[in-house]
Amino acid sequence: MLAKNYAAAGQISVMEYMRHCNAAYYAKSDPLGRDGDFITAPEISQMFGELAGLWLADIWIRQNRPDHVNYVELGPGRGTLAADALRAMAKIGLNPAVHFVENSPALRQEQQSRVAGASYHDALDQLPKEGPLLIIANEFFDALPVRQMICTESGWRERFLQIDRSSDGDIQFLPVAGEKDCSQLVPEHLRSAQPGSIWESNPDTAAAIEQISARLRAQGGVMLICDYGYVHSALGSTLQAVSAHKYADPFERAGEVDLTAHVDFLAASQIGRQCGLQIAGPVEQGFWLSAMGINQRAEALLRAAPQRAEEIISARNRLVQPDQMGGLFKILAMHAPDWPQPEGLSPAIA
Ligand code: SAH
Repeated sequence: MLAKNYAAAGQISVMEYMRHCNAAYYAKSDPLGRDGDFITAPEISQMFGELAGLWLADIWIRQNRPDHVNYVELGPGRGTLAADALRAMAKIGLNPAVHFVENSPALRQEQQSRVAGASYHDALDQLPKEGPLLIIANEFFDALPVRQMICTESGWRERFLQIDRSSDGDIQFLPVAGEKDCSQLVPEHLRSAQPGSIWESNPDTAAAIEQISARLRAQGGVMLICDYGYVHSALGSTLQAVSAHKYADPFERAGEVDLTAHVDFLAASQIGRQCGLQIAGPVEQGFWLSAMGINQRAEALLRAAPQRAEEIISARNRLVQPDQMGGLFKILAMHAPDWPQPEGLSPAIA
């Protein structure tokens, strides 16, 4: 479907390809959950959203309970995380205004069925300019388009996709190197790599963090980022496609599979810091959830519903264990300098 729109274009950068594919992918349906393409932490268990809500409420309490607080979620998926977090916050007296940054009509509908009264925004600059912002982004930044450079015999080039029509009429996207030299864009210590090496950057994530940093400094508040990612910048493509819980070819079935790229947590921290925020973490998701009391919460759920013991324990294990989401996902927070240090994020991974 999407491929047809590109048939005349000739070439497209990997970054623009990923942007268009994901916009098309998320616009049409709900890809989350057991029967979808992939499953996220809040869909695995209510414990994830509840602990995220309590984490925010703890910061709010230690900041002396400011008024006119906004709960902001970037890419709220089905709204499950927000529903669980808002319920946990309400129990201790925090009832913020709710703002969702979401551009998928299908997912907006899902969100409305779980969270009533949220305000919707297509972009970050539409967020309220008054009151502190308590921001959560779970598996949001990994969906933003990644820019790729490839090392060739004659220097670094942006990675493009050549759009060809095969003999049976199908549109194919074939990776090729661009013509313009881009060596200056690649960090100096990585420039003398082997031909074929790939270096990624994420200009959209950088721009979003700059924008959010300015708001957090002006209005107060904190942002929690949970995502796949790496802590030390390195070479290699992290672009991957997932369909029906299995890996797929990222350059096939354009707009029909979920495309992600790993978040560069070092770059994200540096931008936040340069913009005047305090940084906490990154730590592994399992470390943060354990520090936030996931075991105690699991025990309470078990006492209330002993017949669900197997499900509760296996969800807890999936979220926490190092060889599962517990180690693959990292948690990073950024906060206004006059806001308290968040719980559960130190010592950071060096
Ligand atoms: N946070 C949810 C969903 C993760 S999937 C969860 O944990 O379950 C990624 C989410 O980000 C989806 O809601 C998708 O529609 C949204 N999204 C992706 N790119 C976006 C963009 N550029 N602007 C706004 N929302 C976007």
